[in-house]
Amino acid sequence: MPQYPTALQNPIFRTIFKASKNLNLESYVIGGYVRDFLLKRGDAKDIDIVAVGSGIDLAEEVSKLLPGKPKVSVFKTYGTAMLKSGGIELEFVGARKESYSEESRNPAVENGTLEDDQNRRDFTINALALSLSDENFGELLDPFNGIEDLQKKIIRTPLDPNITYSDDPLRMLRAIRFATQLDFIIEKESLEAITRNAERIKIISKERIVDELNKILLSDVPSKGFALLHKTGLLPFILPELIALQGIDEKEGQTHKDNFWHTLEVVDNISKATDDLWLRWAALLHDIGKAPTKRFDKKLGWTFHAHEFVGAKMVYKLFKRLKMPLNEKMKFVQKMVLMSSRPIVLASEVTDSAVRRLIFDAGENVEDLMTLCEADITTKNPKKFKKYHANFQLVRDKIVEVEERDQVRNFQPPVTGEEIMETFNLKPSREIGIIKDAIKEAILEGEIPNEYEAAKEFMLKKAAEIGLKTVN
Ligand code: ATP
Ligand code: MG
Repeated sequence: MPQYPTALQNPIFRTIFKASKNLNLESYVIGGYVRDFLLKRGDAKDIDIVAVGSGIDLAEEVSKLLPGKPKVSVFKTYGTAMLKSGGIELEFVGARKESYSEESRNPAVENGTLEDDQNRRDFTINALALSLSDENFGELLDPFNGIEDLQKKIIRTPLDPNITYSDDPLRMLRAIRFATQLDFIIEKESLEAITRNAERIKIISKERIVDELNKILLSDVPSKGFALLHKTGLLPFILPELIALQGIDEKEGQTHKDNFWHTLEVVDNISKATDDLWLRWAALLHDIGKAPTKRFDKKLGWTFHAHEFVGAKMVYKLFKRLKMPLNEKMKFVQKMVLMSSRPIVLASEVTDSAVRRLIFDAGENVEDLMTLCEADITTKNPKKFKKYHANFQLVRDKIVEVEERDQVRNFQPPVTGEEIMETFNLKPSREIGIIKDAIKEAILEGEIPNEYEAAKEFMLKKAAEIGLKTVN
């Protein structure tokens, strides 16, 4: 068996080796750490250790040998223990044998050998183990030829894929997530088994599903994952809003684009420009309002009237259903979806006042919005492609110019409500709102500069128009 001592250069492995020796048990590094070392994916921040014996005892012993004796968190029900050392999270588990029942993904567990433990792992590439024991320190234990799968870039299960995926349906999403993250192929039997078991994803908690979706979205080419979710029939159970975008209708010879595949292109585009998870979510959801708003009009052809507004509302429902945070991240995605067509209108005619309004409405998110809109350009016509990008560059330049001059991003009206009330001896009333709005409009339209003196003068003029008198 091949040796990989260089994988174990971190002193922590020597400590685990000593602790194992003290307790007279075998231990192994297993899973992601070994896989990522062999793939040269950089140093993992979490390391999984399996002990043939008690994982909890091993964790306690490791802690004793470490400077400062880091705290061990024990999860009794799972028989696992965790500790942190030097920025690394170590997870300890006793080798175990699992058997599953129909209804849940919580298996019956008994103690087992290393081989038993490798059998319960999801993929051959995740079952690779490196020995931390005296007689064969650094030796690779690879009963399913995971190393070959790593080289061939294949996702394969150690046991019958039908059983593996049915036992724990989360593995279906993990397969797709790893295929996307690592740019691997899911082997045919696995893909078929996932397709057959797709409906079982229903027993998986929303939080776990979202964890995997986020990892897919944060990959270099997220469309790969969504195409697989689609192909295997998982997507309707997870994001039916996206499936509803699929397909092209034709009426009176007129068609519209397939908004599902368009969306995936947009997600890939934006992923080249940003690593921001929420902006990527915004790209994924930017067109979901198009399914419920689609109409055919004899004059206009296919329309998606107010799809941005409808889409923003759907974002809330979707986040709620998937138990995602209903906080400022959700609001950000909603805002991006709501405003997703705004700069497109602009790109045909870039006026100062339109740009001022865009900055005013988008506020601190104006760059993100531009990034989204540029990603939205998926035309296959090279001339149009160039033209649209050039137009957006104009809009971006104009944003900088208008920002410097007018500072409307965090717009504060130069004349406050209090001042209006004092000037005209008013109690809080409708008139104040009218005057404030008029000032805001005048600034956005460029009739007056965003300055106190000009705004005050305008206020007096406007007040006179609606018959208000100043008090001296
Ligand atoms: P990453 O940390 O990059 O997500 P990983 O492979 O380390 O990848 P973890 O979720 O940290 O993934 O799990 C650690 C190991 O535990 C995996 O490598 C795999 O061997 C095993 N494992 C995790 N989840 C499952 C599961 N649902 N079914 C079977 N084995 C699993
Ligand atoms: Mg891990």
